[in-house]
Amino acid sequence: MLYDLSDRAQQVLARVQARVEDAIIPLEPAFAAAMKSPDRSWALMPELEALKHQSQKEGLWNLFLPDPERGAGFSNYEYAFMAEAMGRSLLAPEVFNCNAPDTGNMEVLHHYGNAEQQAQWLTLLLKGEIRSAFCMTEPDVASSDATNMQATVRLDGNELVLNGRKWWSTGVAHPNCELLIFMGRSSDTGHRHRQHSMVLVPKNHPGVRVERLLSVFGSEHLPYGHGVVEFNQVRLPKTALLVGEGAGFEIAQGRLGPGRIHHAMRAIGAAERLLKMMIERGLERQAFGKQLIDLGGNRERIANHRMAINQARLLCLHTARIIDKHGVRKALSEVAQIKIVAANLMQQVADDAIQMYGGAGVDDALPLGEFWAAGRVLRLADGPDEVHRGTIAKLELKPYLDARK
Ligand SMILES: Cc1cc2nc3c(=O)[nH]c(=O)nc-3n(C[C@H](O)[C@H](O)[C@H](O)COP(=O)(O)OP(=O)(O)OC[C@H]3O[C@@H](n4cnc5c(N)ncnc54)[C@H](O)[C@@H]3O)c2cc1C
Repeated sequence: MLYDLSDRAQQVLARVQARVEDAIIPLEPAFAAAMKSPDRSWALMPELEALKHQSQKEGLWNLFLPDPERGAGFSNYEYAFMAEAMGRSLLAPEVFNCNAPDTGNMEVLHHYGNAEQQAQWLTLLLKGEIRSAFCMTEPDVASSDATNMQATVRLDGNELVLNGRKWWSTGVAHPNCELLIFMGRSSDTGHRHRQHSMVLVPKNHPGVRVERLLSVFGSEHLPYGHGVVEFNQVRLPKTALLVGEGAGFEIAQGRLGPGRIHHAMRAIGAAERLLKMMIERGLERQAFGKQLIDLGGNRERIANHRMAINQARLLCLHTARIIDKHGVRKALSEVAQIKIVAANLMQQVADDAIQMYGGAGVDDALPLGEFWAAGRVLRLADGPDEVHRGTIAKLELKPYLDARK
């Protein structure tokens, strides 16, 4: 193998790749049909649930978590190859208990939860028995600047009282969603990054209400769903607070670093599959006496995508190595870079694949539209491209500006 991976990582990678290609991708048409079913009561696809149990039994489970006790014990570098394999199907990550937002939420509980909180929530999440959502973004404020957040967490004796409205809370519609991680303002004074706190909220707690589901270009992304969630006088014991008052930003930073690189790893896998589909279609169809691949600059597009995918993969692996060796705080620029690069890559390859397929490209019988939409929203979710460009520029300029002080 070109890249140095341990024997164990290589074996697991080969099994993940085989499971995705042989068992998960073939289920996509049935899943797409079920999504369209007028009977909205269908929830979890039995075939996917069976694959999940199989993965768990075989140890192809929690591969994202470097901790060897709770997770599979792979480094971010090793996991990058596995996540890329999972990225080839939008259905795959959950089959290995490696799907967002649960992975990020499990990381939060693993790093910041106390023993009681871990026993109550983390154990069930690691077993895949419950799902969770992360409630940070709000409809009424520009949430790319998270210091804008207005929802509140107030202390009342030994209780916390939560109020506010969140949206784009991914996962709230999932039938097994039981935990919401809520971030709200707990103080109006002090450092702007010490004014918010995070609280663990049972989804079925009094005062919590999913107002409605949002759609992404017409799809509600079931079974996960993105919800608008109201928190109205939600009362919880103080023990539901993560770390302590004012720790919200510290936890959010810790959560988003690995989460963003995981998105990037999967997006690269998606781009690989899209390129493959694009080439296959270009070779099998003819117009104007030529194969589609030989018309109108398609070969150049394919060459450009091959270069872009290879570059993105190297940047992703480079970022993973920095995180593994020095921690996520030393990889802030690289994480921002790969988040932008991979999301745009996925969207662009999907767009060109759709074009190569003509009308078939926009029909939901093929996953191209879903991949395009997933790439497009990834340019917003976990922070818009522009905010990440701002981070990269700030870090790049820092030594120059420091030298001028
Ligand atoms: C599919 C999907 C899933 C999501 N899942 C979750 C989730 O699970 N939990 C959660 O809390 N949130 C989630 N989000 C929300 C997401 O993180 C926010 O939409 C994002 O952070 C942007 O916030 P906003 O929508 O308020 O946009 P705004 O803050 O209003 O920004 C709008 C636009 O302004 C521009 N802009 C903003 N800042 C800058 C800047 N510094 N420089 C230049 N231009 C700028 C950008 O073009 C940006 O797109 C999800 C979003 C989507 C679409």
